Amino acid sequence: MNRRLKRPLLLIASAVLAGLVFTFDCFANYDYSVAVLYLAVLVLVSAAGSGKEVTRAAQACVCLTLLSWTIVHLESPTPASALRCLFACIAITVTGALLVSRKRLEATKLDLERSRSEVELFANSVPFVLWRSNPGGEIEYLNESWTTVTGLDRWAVLEGQRYNDVVHPEDMKALSESVSKAIATRTTTNIKVRVRQADGSYRWMQVYDNPAYSPLTGLVERFGGLSDVHDEVVAKQELEHLRNELEISRAELINFTDSVPQILWRADALGKIDFFNRRYTEITGRDVQQALDRQDFIEDCHPDDREVYRRLVIEAVSSKMEFRASFRLRHANGSYRWMSLVGRPVHSADGSNEIRYYGGISDIHDEVTSHQKVRELNETLEQRVEQRTTELTRTERRYAGLFDVSNMTFAEMDFSAAELILDEIKANDVTDLRSYMMAHPEELSRVLGVVKTVRVNQALARMMGYDSVADLVANPPAQNAEDGPDVLLRQLEMYYYGVDDIDGRTVLVGKGGRRIPVYFTVTRLSGGLHLSSHVDLSEQERVEQIRQAAQAELARANRIATVGAFSASIAHELNQPIAAMVIDARTGLRLISRENSRLEALERILQRVEKNAQRVAGIVQRTKENLVARRHAGKAIDLYLLAFETRSLIDHDLKRADVELEIVSPDTLPPVKADPVGLQQVFVNLINNAVDAMRGQAGVRRITLEFLEKENTVRVRVADTGPGIAEEHIEKLFEPFFTTKSSGIGVGLQICRSAVETMGGELTVSNQAGGGASFEFDLPLVLEELEGELRG
Ligand code: ADP
Repeated sequence: MNRRLKRPLLLIASAVLAGLVFTFDCFANYDYSVAVLYLAVLVLVSAAGSGKEVTRAAQACVCLTLLSWTIVHLESPTPASALRCLFACIAITVTGALLVSRKRLEATKLDLERSRSEVELFANSVPFVLWRSNPGGEIEYLNESWTTVTGLDRWAVLEGQRYNDVVHPEDMKALSESVSKAIATRTTTNIKVRVRQADGSYRWMQVYDNPAYSPLTGLVERFGGLSDVHDEVVAKQELEHLRNELEISRAELINFTDSVPQILWRADALGKIDFFNRRYTEITGRDVQQALDRQDFIEDCHPDDREVYRRLVIEAVSSKMEFRASFRLRHANGSYRWMSLVGRPVHSADGSNEIRYYGGISDIHDEVTSHQKVRELNETLEQRVEQRTTELTRTERRYAGLFDVSNMTFAEMDFSAAELILDEIKANDVTDLRSYMMAHPEELSRVLGVVKTVRVNQALARMMGYDSVADLVANPPAQNAEDGPDVLLRQLEMYYYGVDDIDGRTVLVGKGGRRIPVYFTVTRLSGGLHLSSHVDLSEQERVEQIRQAAQAELARANRIATVGAFSASIAHELNQPIAAMVIDARTGLRLISRENSRLEALERILQRVEKNAQRVAGIVQRTKENLVARRHAGKAIDLYLLAFETRSLIDHDLKRADVELEIVSPDTLPPVKADPVGLQQVFVNLINNAVDAMRGQAGVRRITLEFLEKENTVRVRVADTGPGIAEEHIEKLFEPFFTTKSSGIGVGLQICRSAVETMGGELTVSNQAGGGASFEFDLPLVLEELEGELRG
């Protein structure tokens, strides 16, 4: 029957039945307990209605029972009827109460059933495996997820209690131990194990099993579940792995940074250093952590470099660019060494805009000091070169004339083919090339045959009388000099013995057999090339001849002067006795005239003696005067020029004695009035004396011929670096025949003095404070008329 119809029908039927029972009870007038039939009404109501409706129906039936008893028995109530009515009421009440209670039980059962299916539904709808186990640990319930996860039928597993079959064998032991312990101690199981999945693979799953009191069974049961934590476990394992690798890398990095020979550092964006490797401590002797705390690295810089360092840090931080600097760093032993610092900004790896600086500090002390040495050397070299250039320029100016007439030439020859032959000879262990070539002239001509003139300059061609350089180049090299083969052999020896240059004299043979004496130099260049240059000595030979003639003339003049001096001194010596003779003769004559007039003849003789003596005296006097007068003639003289010529004259002697003659003169020196021959004699004498005084001396041998302009004179000074004049000799120096030399005559200085006197000066001598003798005299400047005369 339709459930919707059943309820109203049953309720109506129960109402109808109640009405019938009431009617029957009131009017049938049976002396029985008809009211008991109300119980059927209650049963019908309870079949269709709720507990409340049953209660109301029971109340209604009790009321109807009491009403019908009242109607039937009010006029003649009997105890029996009253008792029957009471029993009926009790029966109705008890039955109603029972039916209500049953109703409630059914509702409760229904609720329970619903809850059960809801729990089942919930348990089956969650994506976790859930179970319930009894206190002994046997699983009694598994949700459907079990089948989904493991692919095994849950009922079959429950029946055979074979749920552990899905646990990875390696995890089985840990699981059993964990579960046993949790059951024994009534604590929670919480363990991750690998569970075989429906597809046969294993996945990590979390086993969570908790004890809980079950009010149904009154026992402590266990409720648990399995959740898939595979991804999490794998991720964690990977993370662990990564962390291990990271740890290893970190350790390696620290090892690496500690093993590099440089200081490594790191700083934050503000330049604050927060890392140093171990090398920092090794080098500076400072504790890294303490240094980082104090941030006082500038104290370790050399005081002169601190400003550079400070500025570098400021600039680097503001520019955010790579930076480099060199500074001196104090080392553990207190010494400073040059270090090179380099730093580079790096963006943080986390993608933020933050910057850090990484860098290193390495030792460049040796490089810097050697660089400094090279620089100092260069500076010294430059200074020397400059000095030398100045000297050369000065010399060049002085000798400009000489260079103008010199005839420098160049020729380039190719010895490369000859060198190959020489290599062969060398390979045969020939040690003396010259002897070998002398013994094998054919070999020499073979070698010389391959020597080629590559290039010559115009000056050489001109010197050798060729119209074009090509003519000279075409000439066989050996024929270009009188001793051509010998010169070429010397050039072969250069290669053979590794000599870079040679020089010497030879006579070039030019066009038409023209002979040119030359001084040559040969320099070996790379690639077997030889560069030779020649100085034409023809002119030099002529100059040498002139010089020799001048020296001879000087010697002659010296001899004459010496003789003159002799004569002068003889005259001096003779003067006095002759004068005495004259006086004596006069006295004799006076005596004779007074005491004996007969001695007339004697008188005449004595008169003759007197006359002759006077004549001798006159002759001697004249000779002396002549000697001196010869030098009276004065000319305007350029002292510098005269000094220069004098030096050229005696250059040979100076060189031989290894003496340097320095001429010191102001740029503009006015001419003086003097006898050029006499003055040159004075220069030569004084210079020769100085050379003699310094001969064999160990120290510097220098003579200074100096001219100094005074008011109306020029002071001439000849000073040397010799031993000077002994104190006891200084007075006698100008006396005739005073000499300290074994072969000296001792008249030179006297000649000089008288020569200087005739030129209006006075020759004096003194010892210099720093050692050495100094001879000085003044010469008058040329008067204006004389100058005019000279110009005219
Ligand atoms: P001579 O040279 O023949 O000895 P000089 O008259 O020229 O004669 O010199 C006289 C002496 O003066 C020398 O023997 C020498 O002792 C001394 N004399 C001259 N010049 C110097 C000098 N520059 N330094 C030291 N002694 C000197």
